[in-house]
Amino acid sequence: MSVIPGLEQQNQRYAAAFEEQQLPTAPQLKLTVVTCMDSRIDVFAVLGLENGQAHVIRNAGGVVTADVIRSLAISQRKLGTREIILIHHTQCGMLGITDDGFRAELQEATGQAPTFAIESFTDLDANVRQSIARVRTSPFIEHTDSIHGYVYDVDTGALRRVEE
Ligand code: ZN
Repeated sequence: MSVIPGLEQQNQRYAAAFEEQQLPTAPQLKLTVVTCMDSRIDVFAVLGLENGQAHVIRNAGGVVTADVIRSLAISQRKLGTREIILIHHTQCGMLGITDDGFRAELQEATGQAPTFAIESFTDLDANVRQSIARVRTSPFIEHTDSIHGYVYDVDTGALRRVEE
């Protein structure tokens, strides 16, 4: 039983009530948010953002991978963003796996070892600091003077700043 037909119906209602926005492609707040794919984080609501104000880059864990660097490079160099917020969160699914364990699981199930790093972590604050460091030391990221890291509590909705 697929949820897709219901989603299509919901979009029809959404589009019917949609007020044409004609927003520019470049985010108005010149902000990029990097965070986890977790279903409990409504990034726009958490930060009080509106459509058109910020880029949001998401993956499992909100980890700064090569592809996140690619998106950040485009965000800054082609679409004018200057500030970066990194958000990890409590109860992250990445806290429950290990790189070696998941790699072995994939290899056993498929016969292929993944070519990508799993990037699991056990310490949220340490991983936020590592993510900041990866962005800061990337030669492709132009603006590194305003990078802020946080841990989001999925039970309270509160952000806690992680000092570098
Ligand atoms: Zn997560």
